[in-house]
Order: sequence, then C-alpha cells, then structure tokens
Amino acid sequence: MKKQKLENYQNAVKDVKSKVKYDGSHPELAARLEKEILDTNPGVKWDDVAGLSDAKRILQETVVLPLFMPEYFQRIRRPWRGVLMFGPPGTGKTLLAKAVATECGMTFMNISCSSLFGNWYGESERLTRCLFELARAHAPTMNFIDDIDSLCKHETSRRLKSELLVQIDGLNNSNSTSGKMVTLLAATNFPGNLDEALRRRLEKRIYIPLPYFETRKELIQINLKSIELAPEVDIEQVAQKTEGYSGDDLTNICRDASLNGMRQKIAGKTIHEIKNILKSEMLKIPVTMEDFLEAVDKIKPTVSSGDIQRHEKWYSEFGSS
Ligand code: ADP
Repeated sequence: MKKQKLENYQNAVKDVKSKVKYDGSHPELAARLEKEILDTNPGVKWDDVAGLSDAKRILQETVVLPLFMPEYFQRIRRPWRGVLMFGPPGTGKTLLAKAVATECGMTFMNISCSSLFGNWYGESERLTRCLFELARAHAPTMNFIDDIDSLCKHETSRRLKSELLVQIDGLNNSNSTSGKMVTLLAATNFPGNLDEALRRRLEKRIYIPLPYFETRKELIQINLKSIELAPEVDIEQVAQKTEGYSGDDLTNICRDASLNGMRQKIAGKTIHEIKNILKSEMLKIPVTMEDFLEAVDKIKPTVSSGDIQRHEKWYSEFGSS
C-alpha cells in the first residue's frame, strides 16, 4: 500500500476510534480491562522487527490485506479464523504482533493467558466475553493472546477455553458482515500443549525461529541505531559469535556492551564526582569491539537445543508456510 494511502487510512481509523464508546454488558470490567490491556497505538514499526520475512509475508496475507480489501476476502477467501505464532521465547512474536497492529492502525489488546486469566479466576467466562465485546467496540482490533497453551494445561481452564472457542467462531461471522474487523493472533512457546480444538481454530501456524546470521546482523544494527560505535566494531563477527541466541538475548548483549564505557568511566569515582561528569562527555564514549566480546562471554543463550528440536518437530507436523 502506498505510504500516503496508508497514512490516510490510519488517520481515518484514529478519527473513528476517538469517538468510540463501549456499550456492552460489563462496563466496570471493560473499564478495568481497557486500562490493563488496551493499547491504541503500540508504536512498533515493521522495520523495528529484524528478519522474519516469511512470518511478515504470511501476516500480510492473513491480517493486513483482509483489513484493507474486505470485499476480496469473502467466501472461500475469507480471512483465516485465527493465526498462531509459535517458537522459542524472545524471538519477536509480541514485537511482530505490535508491528502488524501499528501498520494497520489497529487497537492492540495484549492478553497474557497465564497472568490475566489467573488473576480473574472464577470470572473467566465473563472476562472472555467482555474482551471480545471490547475488541469489537474498538475495532479494528488485534486480540493478541500470549501463552495460549496455558488454557489447555489445567482442567480448571476448560470452561474458559470453551468460551474462547465460541468467541473465535463468532468472530469469523461478525467480521464478514459488520466490517468491524477483530483479528485473533495467538502465541505460544509450547505448541505441543495445544489440543485439537484450539489447533483447528488457529488455522495458520507460523514458526518464529531463532534469528539466522543475517537477522542477527540486522537486529544488532537496529539496537545500535543511535549509539556511537568505535570504528573497529565488526558486527558480522558479533553475529557469527551469537549463533543460538534469541533476539532478546542479542538485545541484552547490545545493552550490556553499550553500558560498558560508562562503567569504566565511573569506576572508582564517588557519586559526587560522577555527577560532575558531563552528560555530553558520557554520550560520546563509543562502544568498542571489546565491549561486545565481553558481553557475549557474559550473557549465555537462553534457548536449549532440545527446545529447538521440539519446535521443529511440531512445525513439520502442523506448521504453515
Ligand atoms: P516473544 O514474544 O517471542 O517472547 P518478544 O517479541 O517479546 O519475544 O521479544 C523480546 C525482545 O527481544 C523485543 O522487545 C526486542 O527487543 C527483541 N527482539 C526479539 N526478536 C526481535 C526481532 N526479530 N527484531 C527486533 N528485536 C527483536
């Protein structure tokens, strides 16, 4: 979509949203949820997400285009009911969901199954209904449901899961008729725990792997965009040394390396002396290759090879491409 056209669309959506009022049957619950999980502008751009080109392509087709061309995505071309992103933790699933929502001017509802439903134990069916009512009131909305596998873990979540299945089925019908698009994007680090009923509703299942070499390079560059680097810093070498690290691990390495110059500068100084160091002087300290090598040494990858095998096995059985 052309940039100007996209901006016009996003402004039109903002205008509509500023007039939105929830008039469902659970106003108090809705008010609390609005505070806890609703984000009208997640502010993550497509380019903030390194790599993951396959996932971006699938999300374009499953979420972005149906929103822009609802007439085309009818009948056999109807949008996929639900989309699942699975893969090790810290690989950019949440970031990508926010980027899609930002790109489409969608309201972002960040629903963490394990924390949210745990806190509202006993009210979870009411809560689920309210979540979807709220999503419709703020449409176009992305319902991002994280740790969705946790719904299949406990017997106690059974009724909640049934209600969620009902809501997902209803979503499909209301999307095609009202034009108020609500998209369900779920994420899990344990796809093997999903039962058949949920798996069937999550029709597209996208694997979000650990970053490959090129993605690691891009991710380091994104993280260091506004940071002063010493001329000898070799990002390719850092990318080579970090095979098996997640995007989150790599971000931690960049953060740690970028703080090292400050650590050296203040070593042995009193707080009073530190206060007297000019801010501009501190900002000018470049990050060196040594800072990176030290950080790589210190920070270990969080994902095990067993984890990767588990995901790849599930991908070969149930994944989409
Ligand atoms: P997940 O939802 O897969 O557990 P997140 O999306 O929460 O992971 O990622 C955690 C952090 O790791 C992000 O906020 C970002 O700093 C970094 N990150 C992970 N993957 C990427 C990526 N592909 N591009 C840019 N940053 C990433």
